[in-house]
Amino acid sequence: MTDNQATDARINPMQLGYHSRFKFKCHPGISCFTQCCRGINIILTPYDVIRLKQRLDLPSDQFLAIYTEPHLLEKTDLPMVTLKHLDDEHDSCPFVREDGCIVYEDRPTACRYYPLGVASLQHKEGADDDGFFFFINEPHCKGFEEDCDWTVAEWRKDQAVDERDAVNAEWTDLVVRKRSFPPNIKLTEQAKQMFFMVSYNIDQFREFVFGSTFLKRMPVDPETEAQLKTDDVALFKFGVNWLKGLLFKDRDPHEQAAAQKE
Ligand code: SF4
Ligand code: SF4
Repeated sequence: MTDNQATDARINPMQLGYHSRFKFKCHPGISCFTQCCRGINIILTPYDVIRLKQRLDLPSDQFLAIYTEPHLLEKTDLPMVTLKHLDDEHDSCPFVREDGCIVYEDRPTACRYYPLGVASLQHKEGADDDGFFFFINEPHCKGFEEDCDWTVAEWRKDQAVDERDAVNAEWTDLVVRKRSFPPNIKLTEQAKQMFFMVSYNIDQFREFVFGSTFLKRMPVDPETEAQLKTDDVALFKFGVNWLKGLLFKDRDPHEQAAAQKE
């Protein structure tokens, strides 16, 4: 992509693939520093919440109450959360300061992707390489004027989003699968609450697993049980696996169609 094409992409958003090239650099000396951390909605992934609540040393329910707002994810009817804005004149992110982000090493996936947006939740490398990414078109961002060249794949690696997407991969599949359902297939309120608990309130899910008959109904080996007691990521992945059965059993139209053919 030439410089002019990169500039045009900001005006006419274009779809990008893993090998698309762009020029961009963000650094503390740039005139727009931290402007992108104000007046923006940041959708949090489950792993974002785990990293942030661990960083702030808060139980997940307290983190959610203090720092997030609940929403329904478009076309899925599934609950999700965004970072709550501060009540200031700029609608600032609660973690931005004059000298930058105070949770930088644990900043959310969306902040890492910036200035790229992800067009679909289903962004698996190699599956369909093009069209998953686009430039977030914000005129105040001067990073495009800096002379530093990337491919989308290089940017993802530099920003460590590959690792984060890998942790969220099965959860992302689950959300994409729900989105493909016809609108008349609804989840019960209880199923949505379970989805929310596994996705965002991991400490409450741990209480649920170890404070009920859960493990009698879904037994695990002693080593796994010990890991689930302390490892949030392992518990989240275990929970997503459980959710698949809970949310989609007898409901997945693709599986129903396949079963009817058998
Ligand atoms: S607006 Fe763009 S260049 Fe400026 S701080 Fe944010 S990401 Fe960096
Ligand atoms: S989490 Fe950090 S990088 Fe993301 S919007 Fe807030 S201050 Fe900016």
